[in-house]
Amino acid sequence: MEASPLELPADTLQRIASELRCHLTDERVALHLDKEDKLRHFRENFHIPKMQDLPAVDLSLVNKDENAIYFLGNSLGLQPKMVKAYLEEELDKWAKMGAYGHEIGKRPWITGDETILGLMNDIVGANEKEIALMNGLTVNLHLLLLSFFKPTPKRYKILLEAKAFPSDHYAVESQLQLHGLNIEKSMRIIKPREGEETLRTEDILEVIEKEGDSIAVILFSGVHFYTGQLFNIPAITKAGQAKGCFVGFDLAHAVGNVELRLHDWGVDFACWCSYKYLNSGAGGLAGAFVHEKHAHTIKPAFQQSVSLTTSEELKNKIWKKSDKSQKERLVGWFGHELSTRFKMDNKLQLIPGVSGFRISNPPILLVCSLHASLEIFKQATMKALRRKSVLLTGYLEYMIKHYCNKDKADTKRPFVNIITPSCIEDRGCQLTLTFSIPIKYVFQELEKRGVVCDKRDPDGIRVAPVPLYNSFHDVYKFINLLASALDSAETKNTSVL
Ligand SMILES: *Cc1c(COP(=O)(O)O)cnc(C)c1O
Repeated sequence: MEASPLELPADTLQRIASELRCHLTDERVALHLDKEDKLRHFRENFHIPKMQDLPAVDLSLVNKDENAIYFLGNSLGLQPKMVKAYLEEELDKWAKMGAYGHEIGKRPWITGDETILGLMNDIVGANEKEIALMNGLTVNLHLLLLSFFKPTPKRYKILLEAKAFPSDHYAVESQLQLHGLNIEKSMRIIKPREGEETLRTEDILEVIEKEGDSIAVILFSGVHFYTGQLFNIPAITKAGQAKGCFVGFDLAHAVGNVELRLHDWGVDFACWCSYKYLNSGAGGLAGAFVHEKHAHTIKPAFQQSVSLTTSEELKNKIWKKSDKSQKERLVGWFGHELSTRFKMDNKLQLIPGVSGFRISNPPILLVCSLHASLEIFKQATMKALRRKSVLLTGYLEYMIKHYCNKDKADTKRPFVNIITPSCIEDRGCQLTLTFSIPIKYVFQELEKRGVVCDKRDPDGIRVAPVPLYNSFHDVYKFINLLASALDSAETKNTSVL
C-alpha cells in the first residue's frame, strides 16, 4: 500500500527497551506499552472470557479467575458490554408499544439499519449512500455478483485468489453456473509461486494485464482469512478497471482490522460480515458497498447479458446453453423509496445505489449489537486502532521469532514459522503460524492454557491480537504459554512416534 508514516514496530520496541534499560523481551516492555497505550481503556467495554468458563481449559495449569488470552477476534469478536442494554431497549419497546416501535425511539425499526450507517462509513471509507447493512455476507456477495457479473462471450471470467474462503468459492461457482458457464474455463484462480505461501502483488497485476480482457469481475478478499495477507486493494482495483473489469472485495477479515478507503480507491463493490472484527455476535448484520459512480447504472438485478452475435464455436466453448438476452429485477419493498414505500401501490420507486438492494425490513435485534460495537469504533477511530495494531502484532511477531524461530537451534523446542507477510503494509493484526510438529498437539496444549485461537487446515494456527481489547501483556503471556505448550506438545509428539 502507500508509504506508511508508521515507525517500524521493531524500532519502537527497541527504543522503549533502551529507555527502560532492559531487553526487549522483558515483561516491563509489555507493561510499559500498555501504560502508554491511549486505547487501553476500550478493553473495559468488552466481556473478556475467564479461564474457568472455557470448555477446553485445564484448571491445573491456569488460574481460573484470570482472563483468557482471546486471540480469536478474527473469527468471532468479543461481546461489547452495551449489547445487552441495547437489546433490552428494543425488547422493552416491543413489549410496551408493539408496532409503534417501527417509528419511535432511538432506533425506529423501519430505519434501524440506517440509524447506524453514520458509524460504519469511516470504517470502510465510504459515504452513507454507498453502504447498506443487510443480510449475511454470502447473501450480499451473491446479490452484488448478480448485478456486477455480466459475462459476455469475450469477457466471462471471475478472477479470485487461491484458497478463497469456501463460501466465496461456492458463491463464484454458483454464479458461473447460473450463467451456464464452464467453471474450469471461467473461474480464474491465482496461486502463489511454487514454495511461497502468499501472493505477490506483481503476479496479480501481471495476470490482470495479460488476461484482463477476458475477465468480467475480479473478486479478492481484502485480508486473506488463512494467510492473513492484506491485498493491495487500490493497485488491484486500478489495474482491473484499466482493463475494463469490475473489481470487488470481500472484506470479512479487513473491516475493522485495517484502514479502508473504498470510495477514494474507486472500488466497484464490496461486502463484509460484522461478527469478526466488528464484534456484532454470531450471524450479525452484514454490509455491502456499491460505489456512488454506479448509483444510477447498476441495479439490483440478475443481468444475463448473453450476446447471440458470437460464433457458434466460441459459444459452445464457453456457454453450456445459449440464453436470450434478458434483464431481470431482483428487488423487495425495502429497496423502494421510504417516502412512498407504505403507499403499497406496487409502483416501484427504486432507491439509487446499494440502498435499493435491500430486500426486507431490517432485523432490529441484529442492529442493536452492531450499534453497540460501532459506537466504540467511532470513539477509538480506525486510524488509532491500526496504529496500535501494527505495534501489537509487531510485538507478537518479534517475540515469536525471538523464542520460537527455526534458527534458535540451541533448544530442542519445536519451531514456529510465520506465513503471514512480515511487511506491515501487507497484513492486518492476524499472524498465521505453522509448526515443526503436528498442530493438533500444539493447539490442544494452547487450549488447555486458556489461549483462544483456532487451527485451520492444512497446518496453520491463526492468532489475532485485536487492538480494541487485547493488550501488550496479553501478547507477553501468550508467548510464555506458547513456549510451555510447545514443550508439552513435543513430549506428546515424541511419545507417539
Ligand atoms: C467469515 C467469512 C465468510 C462467512 O460467510 P457468512 O455468509 O457470513 O456465513 C465468508 N467469506 C469470507 C472471506 C469470510 O472470511
